[in-house]
Amino acid sequence: MLKRISNFFTFNQRQKNIGEPIVVQSGRHSLSPKMISRDARKVVEVLQEHGFEAYVVGGSVRDLLLGLKPKDFDVATNAKPSEIKPLFRRSRIIGRRFQIVHVQFSRELIEVTTFRSNETLGKDKPGGNRRQQTDSGMLTRDNVFGSIDDDASRRDLTINALYYDPSDNSIYDFAGGLEDIENRTLRIMGDPATRFREDPVRMLRVVRFAAKLGFTIDPATEKPMHKLAGDLEHISAPRLFDETLKLFMSGQGLATFWLLHDYGLFELIVPQLGKLLNNRNSQASKLVQQAFTNTDLRIRSDKRVTPAFIYAALLWPLVQNLASRYQERGNSPAYALNKAAGEIIAKQIPVTAIPRRFTMPMREIWDLQLTLQKRGGQRAKRLAEHPRFRAAYDFVLLREQAGEDLNGLGDWWTAYQEADEEKRELMANALTQPKNKRRRRKPRTPKAD
Ligand code: ATP
Ligand code: MG
Repeated sequence: MLKRISNFFTFNQRQKNIGEPIVVQSGRHSLSPKMISRDARKVVEVLQEHGFEAYVVGGSVRDLLLGLKPKDFDVATNAKPSEIKPLFRRSRIIGRRFQIVHVQFSRELIEVTTFRSNETLGKDKPGGNRRQQTDSGMLTRDNVFGSIDDDASRRDLTINALYYDPSDNSIYDFAGGLEDIENRTLRIMGDPATRFREDPVRMLRVVRFAAKLGFTIDPATEKPMHKLAGDLEHISAPRLFDETLKLFMSGQGLATFWLLHDYGLFELIVPQLGKLLNNRNSQASKLVQQAFTNTDLRIRSDKRVTPAFIYAALLWPLVQNLASRYQERGNSPAYALNKAAGEIIAKQIPVTAIPRRFTMPMREIWDLQLTLQKRGGQRAKRLAEHPRFRAAYDFVLLREQAGEDLNGLGDWWTAYQEADEEKRELMANALTQPKNKRRRRKPRTPKAD
């Protein structure tokens, strides 16, 4: 597909000044309007009919040029949110840091963004209160509207700054994004350090796209990443949690994990794991790698994955370590595990705010690691009916795959599930210890006075 771009078009100029786009006309690239969802085309059409500029932009244009299926379609326009909203029946304005309009169709949701400017405005200038920065340069509010070229320059990567007009099938490339797609290069728009300070999540996006697309990170983009990794601390815990889901559940979780680790970013996402991962052969490291491997496989075969399982795996080595310390102090295994689980989760929440709907199943999966061992008699049947049994059983298999010796626990449960009713009973009964015959206590010999 990409070959077609280079056949028709030679990239011999890298745009220095954003403002004069390269326009690639119909027939000189591999896109056609039919590749854009009907709803996204409709949104562009309606906006253009009302005299506004409108383009399909971002990830969908990038993915289509690469022959990939876009996740969703985003539209960029010079219409303001308040002008967009009345044009569509089921639409609403969302966001504060970054106002956008969601237009809901029966099959999909189209995000419509107004062109924004990347220019820093002083508080005294008009509009200055619409773009706010912290001392570290991070943007906390970003609602200064601008022209299409302003909008291109505030996007994260050159390959994400391509604008496609389905009405005449042309692509507007403001920053050499087509050339970077051709060369499979990730390049931050503008000065990388400044752009990463403005929004440290951009470092995570660079890593995500490197793993997902198999692109190389341009040296200038890569250079400041290690040094600025610590800026991720400024990202709010709910936003960082959302970003981790995109990282871990992309289908390229393992590759993403290693890149994050190499750039010093992973230790900011799960700080408690920190040094445990430096030794690739440590139990913790093997478990984390195996968890990502299994998640990637599940995603590729269209099986369900839940953040609860991934986070349960990431935090398990820590829970296990802490629980054994509590056990050494004389606490029961169940009490020690429960106390450790609570403490490890409580330390993770301020970094990535894992919602309760995930922490609850995580704790159940962990608890069941103990109870699945006590499976004699009637217990096995009850456990197999537990709503979290399947996840807990998968977790046992995961631990064994990562090299933990659980005395054949996984195999036992696999055989149990495959067995018929009668065999199940035999299996469970074989585990029940014959009750120790009550030994008569020897009468105490009365102490001699
Ligand atoms: P995908 O949806 O496949 O994960 P995407 O590039 O479409 O990738 P979105 O999060 O949907 O990612 O964002 C849409 C577009 O908005 C991007 O292509 C990019 O141009 C811009 N964008 C998103 N996040 C940022 C950011 N943190 N800084 C600057 N621009 C961004
Ligand atoms: Mg997108």
